[in-house]
Amino acid sequence: MYKIRDVEFSIEFMREHGYKRIKCKSCGSYFWGFEEENCGEAPCKLYTFINNPPTRRRYSLREMRNTFLKFFEKRGHEIINPYPVVARWRDDLLVTIASIADFQPYVTSGISEPPANPLVISQPCLRFEDIDKVGFTSGRHLTIFEMGGAHAFNKKLENKFIYWKNETIAYHHEFATRELGIPEDLITYKEHFWVGGGNAGPDVEGIIGGLEVSTLVFMMYKINPDGSLSETPIWTVDTGYGIERWTWLSSGSPTAFEVIYPDVYKWILKVGDIDIPNYVLKDITIGISSLHEFTWDTIKPVIDEVAVKHGYDHVSLESEYSMYVDLMKSLDFSKSILFLIKDGGIPSNVKEGYLTRMLIRKLFNIFEKRSLEYSVIEDLFYNQYNQWVSDYPEIKDIYNVLFDIIKFEYKKYLEIIKKVPQIVRSYIKKGWRDVDTLVEIYDSYGIPPEYVKKEASKHGIKVGIPKNFTELVSMRHLKQSVAVEEFREPLEDKIKSMKLYTEKLYYINPYWSEANARVIYKDKNYVILDRTIFYPGEGGQKYDTGYIISPDNRSYHVKKVEAIGDVILHYLDEDSDLRVGDTVRLKIDWDRRYQLMKHHTATHILLSAIRKILGGHIWQAGVEKEVDQARLDVTHHRLPTLDEIKMIEYEANKVISKCIDVSIYTMERGVAEKRFGPKIYQGGVVPGKYIRIVEIPGWDVEACGGTHVKNTCEIQFIKILNVEKIHDGVIRFTYAAGDSAVKHVWDYYEAVERARKSLSVSLESMPEKVSELVNNLEELGDKISKLIREVQKYRVYKLINEFEKCGPYNVLILRDDIDNLIILGEELDKVSKEYILVGYNKVGRGYNMIIRVGDNYMKKGVSAKDIMDYFIKYLIKGGGRGEDKYARFGGVGDVNKRSIEEVLIKYAEEHRTE
Ligand SMILES: [Zn+2]
Ligand SMILES: [Zn+2]
Repeated sequence: MYKIRDVEFSIEFMREHGYKRIKCKSCGSYFWGFEEENCGEAPCKLYTFINNPPTRRRYSLREMRNTFLKFFEKRGHEIINPYPVVARWRDDLLVTIASIADFQPYVTSGISEPPANPLVISQPCLRFEDIDKVGFTSGRHLTIFEMGGAHAFNKKLENKFIYWKNETIAYHHEFATRELGIPEDLITYKEHFWVGGGNAGPDVEGIIGGLEVSTLVFMMYKINPDGSLSETPIWTVDTGYGIERWTWLSSGSPTAFEVIYPDVYKWILKVGDIDIPNYVLKDITIGISSLHEFTWDTIKPVIDEVAVKHGYDHVSLESEYSMYVDLMKSLDFSKSILFLIKDGGIPSNVKEGYLTRMLIRKLFNIFEKRSLEYSVIEDLFYNQYNQWVSDYPEIKDIYNVLFDIIKFEYKKYLEIIKKVPQIVRSYIKKGWRDVDTLVEIYDSYGIPPEYVKKEASKHGIKVGIPKNFTELVSMRHLKQSVAVEEFREPLEDKIKSMKLYTEKLYYINPYWSEANARVIYKDKNYVILDRTIFYPGEGGQKYDTGYIISPDNRSYHVKKVEAIGDVILHYLDEDSDLRVGDTVRLKIDWDRRYQLMKHHTATHILLSAIRKILGGHIWQAGVEKEVDQARLDVTHHRLPTLDEIKMIEYEANKVISKCIDVSIYTMERGVAEKRFGPKIYQGGVVPGKYIRIVEIPGWDVEACGGTHVKNTCEIQFIKILNVEKIHDGVIRFTYAAGDSAVKHVWDYYEAVERARKSLSVSLESMPEKVSELVNNLEELGDKISKLIREVQKYRVYKLINEFEKCGPYNVLILRDDIDNLIILGEELDKVSKEYILVGYNKVGRGYNMIIRVGDNYMKKGVSAKDIMDYFIKYLIKGGGRGEDKYARFGGVGDVNKRSIEEVLIKYAEEHRTE
């Protein structure tokens, strides 16, 4: 671990206020206080604030959030709106784990300016490392919480400081004492060294009443690959005020859940029939604050002690409190789910959707364990919705879809639970590997470990569920897989080392289809120009094709275009005579490009139309714009109905027909985020200080590097061609715009017309006619296979007189359709027990073969599979599958009646002794 240097904490503020540096007698860490013996944080010191809040008054969560924001606003910080809890602007994180995550890596590394400096934000965060403690600690640990972040970004290299340690602690102190009225001597500051996300720095934890209420981090180091520290160019003040904890502190209530969820808390206690008086809850909470570990086993003695103190039967208090813990968990989980879905974290088996599904299943599991009905789950979400909608109005956009998703997941949950016995059996067969198997079953099927434990015990397997099981499985998914070192091809290194630059004319005017340029580099199959109108394949838009015309009027076909760093490579069909310095004429295939532009702008329009119709949880999950069609993947849990699809198409076409000018401009990252919010990052991570904004005013704004039409009218119209589910949580729209859409409509029309004419029906009666025909076909098929069986039955009676002898065996060798032979074999079995049937038929260059063996022969050890192996060994090159009764195989070889007999004789000879 990193050693904290004392000098890091030699802060003027501490001395000015008469704070002394003291070593905690209990935990040994250093802290700043007055005359205390220990650091003041539980468990070194028990909670003192329960029923005894140190603040001037009580605050609701909203009041505390606003007081915090306003306090810093008055001191020069600009208030920034919270970011989503799904961290789409990061490729190393799935969910927002801290307020500073909003500004990493571009701001904290100095590439981009922050949206304001200093700034303040109250950011909903998700953390999974404490998930198994939730409920056991009266609300001290939560999966979802608001982090109040006051951030200053100091440019160390230029010596431009906003503020640093002294002011940070002074603000904190003033907030606690002057703003909230907390006596100074109740506050201690604990020294600590914070490490996370590749950065590090000293930090000070603010402790009040036994509770750590804030962490004030001074992020100033980068962790090098060898583990050493080096200073970063930006020194970041990264403070985290636990808004829920400050609120709890100000209320002095026995549990934080009561102040976080005032209305839902009361309701859920009624649902669970919980009636534990406040003075009992208070003693339990204070008792638990003395613990180091939080599980049912560690808190039980505390409950028993409290039961004795207040004359309760300890068994009944235990059982009531354990119900209480479960209900508190369900409050925390359901809020987390609500926020994840709000930000497009649709339940699935991958990425953030995995975390949503995990939480939903944990919630269902609690409700099942407590015999609560499904309708209570819906009520819970309804109450959570009401609890949060005024603070987070965007929740309104998911009202309908929320309940649909929960119901959808519940059905899935019931289905998977039914499969538990079968799944557990298959894992036992494979070899049970204790916790590894538990985690694997959870990962593959999302089956809560409690079910697995119960089922495994029926097979005599004792399963121990680790106390931090959920933490274990979620940690496996939290870090996105980012290759430590980017894979770089030699070509990329070569191009970058040349330090060339191509001006991107397609950004200046995407309608230029011809231009002049100068050759600045040439290789066997590609050329680099000083400027180009050729768009490289980027952001899901296909590259341009066209021609480069040499000074002596030779045309070279450009088959592919690619961007590497600052240059654009034009790949040619052939080695060219072009020379560096040549001025060439460029011509792009304009029809292709224009169609790609239409599809690209159409994609932006369609995305917002889908969000408008399906809900605010819709985010782009993938995109591909080709010439004849385009596709857009979005976060959604089920296939939309035909009506929804119609409405989406209608909305999109309405925007097109409004003839809106598309505006495109470049903006500083921070400014864009502030103006439009993180919804601009539909395409995922966008690097760099400046970002290019594509805005369809009144409809859609995205950060995008593609080429677009000037006016929506140019798109003509959008036709959705297909909607399908890609995997859980993601659906794909395939569509076409402009001339491609017209062509698709004509293709449809022609196909339908041709079918209609050959059916000789009207358009309206066509579907009915088709299903009638399909039914007829099915009936016919059934009849035919019955007939085939009848025919084979009669054939059998003739054939039993035609057995030949191969060694000791009665053998029948037939060449016929294999399906007929299979049925023939089944019929043969009914009349003879002593036969070997070998059937074969030529298919393409090879043969399909079957072998079937009569029952009595089988008893004597004759095996169809063994015979098959002989054929594969001696007659044909191929393979197949077989058992003693029957084998089917195929391959290439000289197959005929004679060669088959030879193999059978060989088999018979070698098996004679048996
Ligand atoms: Zn201590
Ligand atoms: Zn785009």
